[in-house]
Amino acid sequence: MKQVLFFLFLCVGALNGAQTPEEALQRLKEGNKRFVDETLLHPDRTHERRESLAEGQFPYAVIVTCSDSRVVPEVIFDEGLGDLFVIRVAGNVVGPTELESIEYAVGHLHPEIVVVMGHEKCGAVDAVAKGDTKGIATIAKYIKPSVKKAKSMNPKDLLELSVKLNALRMRTFILKSPIVNQRNQEKEIGVYSAYYNLPTGVVDFLD
Ligand SMILES: [Zn+2]
Repeated sequence: MKQVLFFLFLCVGALNGAQTPEEALQRLKEGNKRFVDETLLHPDRTHERRESLAEGQFPYAVIVTCSDSRVVPEVIFDEGLGDLFVIRVAGNVVGPTELESIEYAVGHLHPEIVVVMGHEKCGAVDAVAKGDTKGIATIAKYIKPSVKKAKSMNPKDLLELSVKLNALRMRTFILKSPIVNQRNQEKEIGVYSAYYNLPTGVVDFLD
């Protein structure tokens, strides 16, 4: 009986997203490992899941990443419907509209984790590194300081370092949001940055 009650508690907990930020991070890591190992579970894609979500959503993670077609959060973390609140924009920059989307999720949907994920060979960051920002001037404005900092560090791989610094910098933007900062101080939400490796599928968490 005790085991049944505990199981029910876990189910209700999962529905309400009641886990710690550390547990949410662990869940993302485990999903990414399944993706890398090709031991996918394809969770949360049943009609029961669709029906339960029609009542409301409780995604446990907010993922801010690039629009690049190779960087698909639900695939990379082996998740399904209602699990991830995703904001995708070239170069995974966080401007006012992206920040409002994040704040909406944090304020109304109670996720336990926010991740800004850059990726290997990001075209938007590469364009800025090469000074070829025609057509992406607004996006480039957000990326430029990270490329400049990366160049000053004289790295082996300028693009990789620029992408990582950009993800870290966008994380600091997100943490400046009063609602995110408050939840973070209260340890109700964790805010991380990450780097996605294209050929291996591995997500490296940077902080
Ligand atoms: Zn990209």
